Amino acid sequence: MLEEQRNTSTKMDERFQHGNTDEDMMAKGAIIQRDGTYAIAPHIAGGVITDFNMLRKMADVAEKYGCAAMKVTSSQRIAFVGLQKEDVDSVWNELAMEPGAAVGLCVRSVKFCPGTTFCRLGQQDSMGLGSRLDKKFHGMNLPSKFKIGISGCSNMCMDSMQIDFGAVGTPKGYKIYVGGNGGRKPRLGDLLAEEQTPEQVEETLDKIIDYYKASAKTNERLGRFIDRIGLENFKEEVLSHQVH
Ligand code: SF4
Repeated sequence: MLEEQRNTSTKMDERFQHGNTDEDMMAKGAIIQRDGTYAIAPHIAGGVITDFNMLRKMADVAEKYGCAAMKVTSSQRIAFVGLQKEDVDSVWNELAMEPGAAVGLCVRSVKFCPGTTFCRLGQQDSMGLGSRLDKKFHGMNLPSKFKIGISGCSNMCMDSMQIDFGAVGTPKGYKIYVGGNGGRKPRLGDLLAEEQTPEQVEETLDKIIDYYKASAKTNERLGRFIDRIGLENFKEEVLSHQVH
């Protein structure tokens, strides 16, 4: 975790070349709040923290800059709420963490549950698969926002049927669901495949993302895209798609 944080310093330095316009604040992952202060949410893969010093440091920084609250988010992050605009750069600098992709047309989050690592009900290593997908896809630009949820068993604690791409652990491998979403027009994901190995899940996600990037309209969530072209057509296109 610490190594990952150190490697991000160059990217953060680039972000601080910007000023403090609304766009700059968005680029810094700072979201304006009702009272005109800002919230930021560092990226914490899977919401799993094994470096407890990092958690202490987060609390220290929150206290130093007078945060109104630290808030656990639905994307498995810990947000710093109630920051002053002029403090945002310093807070990022002190944290030395990457921002979570909380806004914009991109892979917003890769949620994963404890699976066979910690949960007694786990049937697949959702932490292992989720971590790999997080490294590869988090923040990737796409036609619309895109969320991924990897659950270790059919209890689906990661909302795998209400999310753009979901995988669900079973004793025989993963089921893959596509096109789920919440929001104003909720949609349940469609079953795309069963009994998949982690490698097959990753390969299928690669194909979906590549095909979706090339074929969907701007702001068209995966579920709406599937509705437009038809599920059977989508299945055929995706499963025969060659990643470029
Ligand atoms: S989805 Fe299953 S394995 Fe994952 S946390 Fe929930 S009960 Fe445990």
